[in-house]
Amino acid sequence: MKFDFLPESDQAYYIHKASTLVEALPYIREHAGQTIVIKYGGHAMSTPKLADSFSRDIGLMKEIGIFPVVVHGGGPQIGEVLKQKNIKSEFINGLRVTSKDTMNVVEEVLTNDINNKIVSAINKTGGKSIGLNGSQNGLIEATKLEIQVKEPNSNIEKYIDIGFVGKPNNINKNTINDKLKEGFIPVIAPLGMDKEKNIYNINADTAAGFIASELKANKLLLLTDVPGILDEKKQLISSLSLEEANKILDEDFVSGGMKPKILTCIEAMNKGVKKSTILDGRIPHSLILELFTEHGIGTQIYS
Ligand code: ADP
Ligand code: MG
Repeated sequence: MKFDFLPESDQAYYIHKASTLVEALPYIREHAGQTIVIKYGGHAMSTPKLADSFSRDIGLMKEIGIFPVVVHGGGPQIGEVLKQKNIKSEFINGLRVTSKDTMNVVEEVLTNDINNKIVSAINKTGGKSIGLNGSQNGLIEATKLEIQVKEPNSNIEKYIDIGFVGKPNNINKNTINDKLKEGFIPVIAPLGMDKEKNIYNINADTAAGFIASELKANKLLLLTDVPGILDEKKQLISSLSLEEANKILDEDFVSGGMKPKILTCIEAMNKGVKKSTILDGRIPHSLILELFTEHGIGTQIYS
């Protein structure tokens, strides 16, 4: 059949486009009204094109009735500024060792640079977002994190001090819920404050997972710079049960920043978040692919 309102050469293209939109309908129905927390990593905002695609995805989610909450990292950007200032970057168990000097850089980069950039990128594409600093107005209450590591060649565990790295204990849910009710997309910098007014750097995955649990979010999406969790042969693991996720934490092929990510998904799901996915933020429109297509992308952890 021919349609003379479209040039023949374009017909297949437009009909395909229309059916793609229609195929999204059941997913739109499924997600409308849900709260979805998205951890937006430093890598996924590395080019203006990716930042623009992310902003449009978030705007689209909002328009169809999802309540997106963005928590951002800033690893690569923080690393860059530390390098310029000759401050060394050190990680233990995927967490940045944070001295006072490092903390000053973390705070500056997260709040003044990255948070503002994400907010303006979302607003530029027609969304209505608002930046929130986790350490201000009691948004994220934290305490200093102490971690246990095994001494080399032994099973002895010891506590080590990694500086101003915090563990979230409480959030002011009302602040976030009020912004959601007012129609905003909250964009949160992962910093926390303790009772003595010390400010802490919180791993952005950890902060996103904690916020997702406290808000009773339906989904937690962690955007990163790999396709998802990779196995020992570097093949993508496309889904994992909660039990399997617990097991692979001890595997040698899981290291660095992937550890806090998996741990975050496990903790969030133990506290009621229904699904969590670790996905590749370098793919344009990764959020739309994950939420509105049959197969989704990345590694999904289910309970
Ligand atoms: P982000 O900024 O997204 O938090 P991180 O560097 O903290 O990025 O964590 C992602 C990194 O985890 C990957 O780039 C990869 O180097 C590392 N990683 C370690 N083990 C794995 C694994 N099994 N599968 C995928 N990535 C892994
Ligand atoms: Mg990380």
